[in-house]
Amino acid sequence: MSFLIARSIDDAVAAMAQGARPVAGGSDLVVGARHGVDSLPDDLVAIDRIRELAQIEVNTDGCAIGAGVTHARLMVDETIVRRYPGLADAAALVGSPATRNVGTVGGNIMNGSPAMDTGAPLLVLEATVELRSEVGTRTLPIAGLWTGPRHTAASATELCTSIFLSTPRDRSSSAYVRLEYRRAMEIAVVGAAASVQLNDDGTIAATKIALTAVAPTVVAISVDLIGRPADEQALAMVAAAASDQATPISDLRASDHYRRHTIGVMAKRAFDAAARRAQGEHIAVPVNRTLGIGASS
Ligand SMILES: Cc1cc2nc3c(=O)[nH]c(=O)nc-3n(C[C@H](O)[C@H](O)[C@H](O)COP(=O)(O)OP(=O)(O)OC[C@H]3O[C@@H](n4cnc5c(N)ncnc54)[C@H](O)[C@@H]3O)c2cc1C
Repeated sequence: MSFLIARSIDDAVAAMAQGARPVAGGSDLVVGARHGVDSLPDDLVAIDRIRELAQIEVNTDGCAIGAGVTHARLMVDETIVRRYPGLADAAALVGSPATRNVGTVGGNIMNGSPAMDTGAPLLVLEATVELRSEVGTRTLPIAGLWTGPRHTAASATELCTSIFLSTPRDRSSSAYVRLEYRRAMEIAVVGAAASVQLNDDGTIAATKIALTAVAPTVVAISVDLIGRPADEQALAMVAAAASDQATPISDLRASDHYRRHTIGVMAKRAFDAAARRAQGEHIAVPVNRTLGIGASS
C-alpha cells in the first residue's frame, strides 16, 4: 500500500506507470470506497497539489481547463461563465458546496458515470481531452472518452491533464439543466445540455444536444433543426428526439418510463435556454435556479 503526493505531472504519471491510481478531490473514489462501491486501490497518487492541473488558460484558439479545476471555480470563472455557460450551469449543480470545493472536472469525466453533470455540456461544446502517460501525450474528442458505465478509453497509466474548448462562434451559447428531487447531495435523475448557434436572421445555424443519466454513458442525440427558427416547433422536435433516442433504465430514483418523459422536458428547456442566451438574453448560471427548474429547496 502506498500514498504519494505528486507535485508535478511527471511525478504523477511516473507513479501511475507503477500502478498507482490518481486521486484528485476523492469525492468519487474515496467516498465510493466508504460506501462500498469499490475498494480503495492499494496505491494512490494525490494530484490535487499539481499547480499545472489547476489552471484555466485562454488563448485565441480557445480555453484549456486543467483537469484539477474544481466545480466551485468553474461555476464562477469569468471566462467559463461568459463563453461556456452550459459548463458553469453543470458545475454549479454538482453536490453541495463541500463537494464542489473538492470535486474536479477531471475526476467527474474520468469517473465515467452516466449521471455526471459536466459530461453533457462538454460533449455539446465538442471538448477534447488531453491524456498524458510516460509514453507520451494524446488528445481525443470527449465523445470518444466514455466506453461504458464508469469505463473510459484512457488506460490506467494515462492522466487526464486538461480539457480544451474552442473559442465559441458569434451568436452562439450553451445551457445545461437537470431534474433533481432535492437541491444538493443528489446526482442527476436526468439532465440535458444544448449548444446553439444562430444565423443573423435568428434561424438555427448549428445545434448539439446531449443527455445525462438516460444511457450507459452520457450521449449526444441528433435532431435536424438547421435553418429553422428556435420556436415552439423546434422545442417540440427537441423533446421528441430526446425521449425517442434515450435508452434509460429503471432504478431506485426513477423508472425508465419517467426518465424517458422527463428527459424530453429537460432537453427542450436546455435548448430553449441556450437559444435565448445565443440571442443575447442574460440567463444567470445555473439555469436551474434562474428559471426555477427542479427542486425548489
Ligand atoms: C455527496 C456527493 C454529491 C455528489 N453530487 C454530484 C453531482 O451532483 N453531480 C456529479 O456529477 N457528481 C456528483 N458527485 C460525484 C463527484 O463529486 C464528482 O464526480 C467529482 O467531480 C469527482 O471529482 P474528484 O476530483 O473528487 O474525483 P476523484 O474521486 O478524485 O476521482 C474520480 C475518478 O477519476 C479518476 N481521476 C481523477 N482525476 C483524474 C485525472 N486527472 N486523470 C485520470 N483519472 C482521474 C480517479 O482515479 C477516480 O477513478 C457527488 C459526490 C458526492 C460525495
